[in-house]
Amino acid sequence: MTTLLEVRGLTKSFGGVRAVDDCSFDVEEGSVTALIGPNGSGKTTAFNMITGYLPADSGSLRFAGTPYRRPDPAKLYRRGLTRTFQQARIFGSLSVRENLIAAAGHRWTALLGPRAARADRARADELLDDFGLSEKADLKAAELSYGQRKLCEFAAVLMAQPRLVLLDEPTAGVNPVMIETMERHVRTRNEQGVTFLIVEHDMPLVMRLCDPVVVLDRGRPIAAGRPADIQADPRVLDAYLGE
Ligand code: ADP
Repeated sequence: MTTLLEVRGLTKSFGGVRAVDDCSFDVEEGSVTALIGPNGSGKTTAFNMITGYLPADSGSLRFAGTPYRRPDPAKLYRRGLTRTFQQARIFGSLSVRENLIAAAGHRWTALLGPRAARADRARADELLDDFGLSEKADLKAAELSYGQRKLCEFAAVLMAQPRLVLLDEPTAGVNPVMIETMERHVRTRNEQGVTFLIVEHDMPLVMRLCDPVVVLDRGRPIAAGRPADIQADPRVLDAYLGE
């Protein structure tokens, strides 16, 4: 197994609160790894540091064998590390297709010429078809439902052909059919070689989809392993009961 993401001693305080405290874990290439934990256990803060949205106080990060200290989200994106947000971040005033094309990150399409533009458009249309969004391609993204916005963002982060996708609560607030849809897309992309790190509150989904599961409590990993072992781990039960 190859480690795609290595997190070592990651720490971040806000005033007196240690949101993430000496946190270390690995994401193996090809896995669907879950990061779970009670509310306030540091999952979002860890995500934000890993993806370059927040500087760490200390600790080290390594992606695909290369350390990165002051990560820049755009640079990481180009290297194949991308993410979604709890509240999907898409451009409401652009069409659904334009959102995907923008996410390809080819700022120089004008210079690269019409062939590159056609390739981005073809890839966008292929993804929209996969995600059942073809009929919405020309709609403004603002007109999508909450769940469809999440799907659109998921499709958009795949435009850059990432190696690692971090999903921040992909099924929060979506209906049961959309939960199944999200699950199916994660499985399909994972089979195609994309690695996932997922923050998710839907435990049945985590148990079905993810392996390994890393559990944070007060900013520290307290357990990591197979879903069945995690479910039976008394430290994990304590952490959730104490919530
Ligand atoms: P989780 O995602 O697991 O719910 P968070 O990473 O959001 O946890 O929060 C971890 C802790 O850090 C919480 O105590 C939270 O209140 C605190 N925290 C997070 N972000 C900030 C911030 N920007 N300013 C102050 N405190 C914060």
